[in-house]
Amino acid sequence: MQAAGAVWKLLRGKGGAEPEPKGLTRNDVLSWLKEEEEWKLDFLWTEADRVRHEQVGDEVHLRGLIELSNYCRRDCLYCGIRGSRRIERYRLSELEVEECVRLGVRLGYGTVVLQAGEDPGLSRERITRHVRFIKAETPLAVTLSLGERSDAELAEWREAGADRYLLRHETADMALLRRIHPDCGGERSDRVEFLRKLKRLGYEAGSGVMVGIPGQSYETLANDVLLFHELDLEMVGVGPYLAHPDTPLGRDAASFSLPAGEQVPATDVMTTKVIALTRLVCQNVNIPSTTALATVNTENGRELGLERGANVWMPNLTPVKYRALYDIYPDKACAGDTAEACQACLLRRLASIGRVPGKGPGGQRK
Ligand code: SAH
Repeated sequence: MQAAGAVWKLLRGKGGAEPEPKGLTRNDVLSWLKEEEEWKLDFLWTEADRVRHEQVGDEVHLRGLIELSNYCRRDCLYCGIRGSRRIERYRLSELEVEECVRLGVRLGYGTVVLQAGEDPGLSRERITRHVRFIKAETPLAVTLSLGERSDAELAEWREAGADRYLLRHETADMALLRRIHPDCGGERSDRVEFLRKLKRLGYEAGSGVMVGIPGQSYETLANDVLLFHELDLEMVGVGPYLAHPDTPLGRDAASFSLPAGEQVPATDVMTTKVIALTRLVCQNVNIPSTTALATVNTENGRELGLERGANVWMPNLTPVKYRALYDIYPDKACAGDTAEACQACLLRRLASIGRVPGKGPGGQRK
């Protein structure tokens, strides 16, 4: 282990005078993102896995994802459920949501995540009823991921017992974000401020980015990792960008992409570099191994994430008949599998890498 420590010291510290979150400067993060030598990357993976084990243990927390609705008032250029796309829309009934929640309890999950497009049809009152139901009837933690909702809504849901909120800042490059995530309803979108507000309200806050969005540079991605640290997040979710052929960004990546060598690729390796660096920089944060990662590498993407820093898995509880309609990107992994089928698969996959399903809500260890 001493030799490994020496190699680690040699590999980092390639300059940079900025403050160092856990010993990694911005330049360190940047050179790791650009690193291609496998023997060096092996060291990054090992170190991330060690810190993961030390900080959050071997449990993999299971968060059941319920995709409440694919209605969306926004028109993000990358997303297949963008409001202007002509597709069949759905919204689960309240009863269907309750059935999904009960299934999550039966399968032993610790959390349910209520996610949707930014759908005004999911009223403040309705989400409050869901949160109250889950907190009164089950031991589950509740995570919301409903887009940029109002201050009054956020406060009421927190009051009702919601524990966590996920809203990815998507990219730290504000000019790029403005192009691919247009403002709507005459309000300026400020996702970083939104995350700060979540923390002030007492939510555990989660952000994240898509890796390899056309127009994303290595410098930007290094800034994203440092921003995760600066925001003092409880959760960080990252996945590769997956081009959707029926979106403006999917159709016309060329007018956004940077020249070869400057553009971050949307690969499994790049995604796991971001996971590993986030683990090193943010230490005890909860990090999922995402479905997007399992989609870009169907064979073992999920395991790679978990072996390179991640400690959370988000199996899908949405009724199978609606899955294809929550079409944010194409060919989503596991989309046709029932929650029961996913359970068998995930337990087998966890066992194969020596990990165990988490017990309880699995909030951030302080
Ligand atoms: N409406 C909510 C939930 C969005 S879906 C919100 O805006 O927060 C959750 C995440 O899916 C998004 O934050 C985005 O990072 C990711 N996503 C959307 N389109 C994608 C694509 N084409 N490829 C990969 N990830 C995508």
